Amino acid sequence: MSCGRPHETPCSQVVASLSAYIDGEVGAEEYRLIAVHLTECPPCEHQRQEVRRVQALVVRASASIATPEGLRARIQATVLSNTSHQRPGDDQE
Ligand SMILES: [Zn+2]
Repeated sequence: MSCGRPHETPCSQVVASLSAYIDGEVGAEEYRLIAVHLTECPPCEHQRQEVRRVQALVVRASASIATPEGLRARIQATVLSNTSHQRPGDDQE
């Protein structure tokens, strides 16, 4: 992927770092280099939007398959009741 113009940072490096860039996991200097590159390289900017779109889809998908309503509370209640039954020295029977 390249727009044919020379860049301070190679397109391949920018694309490889896009996910980390979007997640804010790159250093300040790398962030600046990528931000500059994206303003001058439409193909990489397009790629950034694609990565963001996919990430948004993943977030939405994982949210929709999240724990069903009430299940987490039931699990916690079960764990808590088991724990109380197993408490050492707790003879309530
Ligand atoms: Zn580029």
